[in-house]
Amino acid sequence: MDFDYRRPARVAEAVAWLREDPEAKLLAGGQSLLAAINLRLSEPTMLIDLQALPELNGIRAQEGGLWIGAMCSHASVAASPLVRQLAPMLAQLAHGIGDQQIRQRGTLGGSIANADPAACWPAGVMALGGTVCTDRRQLPADEFFTGLFSTALEPDEVVLGVQFPCTQQAHYLKFEQPASRFAMTGVAVAQVGSVVRVAVTGLGSGIYRWQAAEQALQRRLAPEALLGCVLDAGIAMGDIHASAAFRAHLAAVLMRRAVQHILKSSKL
Ligand SMILES: Cc1cc2nc3c(=O)[nH]c(=O)nc-3n(C[C@H](O)[C@H](O)[C@H](O)COP(=O)(O)OP(=O)(O)OC[C@H]3O[C@@H](n4cnc5c(N)ncnc54)[C@H](O)[C@@H]3O)c2cc1C
Repeated sequence: MDFDYRRPARVAEAVAWLREDPEAKLLAGGQSLLAAINLRLSEPTMLIDLQALPELNGIRAQEGGLWIGAMCSHASVAASPLVRQLAPMLAQLAHGIGDQQIRQRGTLGGSIANADPAACWPAGVMALGGTVCTDRRQLPADEFFTGLFSTALEPDEVVLGVQFPCTQQAHYLKFEQPASRFAMTGVAVAQVGSVVRVAVTGLGSGIYRWQAAEQALQRRLAPEALLGCVLDAGIAMGDIHASAAFRAHLAAVLMRRAVQHILKSSKL
């Protein structure tokens, strides 16, 4: 396969190239894109490597929250003392992604732009109510994720990073698909101020906000509050790894354990 490889020095340059060639693709760590190219699921005519863009790098405390640049690798997030201090769930989530190689190359921006229905980052961004910042606008998580491998991004739009609120009251748990460590089902629960948000990944159709569980936990952040809270298996999809009913069951089990974990850590 023949394609043009370019490395922009500014975000505006990347945007201009995306406009110039509708078949161009942004390249982050290549952990999803290169596999798609190898399988001929994607045939870009130009690869625009985002590595050299300083605006897409860096982790910092900002506007009372935490900023993580789109090109930050999972490994750098997992190892960041600032992330561990301000939003420890994100370090824990990033540490559990794939294996060492995936974590070194895979990025926050690539993961959320790809919006794989079994990915971990969408759960973290959704549960914390993060804001995705692009070269032209700010998108709340609820507006950013639009479905299976689908987001609100325009074809020429570049994710710069995500702004997260800070909280200690959050936890992510997944039941791993043993070969890839993607989530067979994964649940992120977060309390930010008085608001509780719950996101479920791995159900098959994109990241899902479990509002019945949110309402139950809003009344009382305790596993007992979830008694009778059942995820409708109709929301999930079955495949060779797990049936829809098993995925829905896992969501409820993981949810209770995640809440238990939050309570236990807040007593320490
Ligand atoms: C074996 C294996 C196991 C994995 N296990 C897990 C797991 O357990 N949990 C999990 O969450 N993920 C997992 N992943 C996914 C991995 O974590 C990567 O984050 C994901 O594949 C995206 O890769 P990347 O960041 O290299 O982006 P790329 O592959 O480079 O890009 C992915 C897509 O995003 C677009 N893109 C990239 N950056 C931007 C940007 N800044 N703005 C707009 N669009 C952009 C690209 O054009 C492309 O369409 C696994 C992957 C593999 C191969």
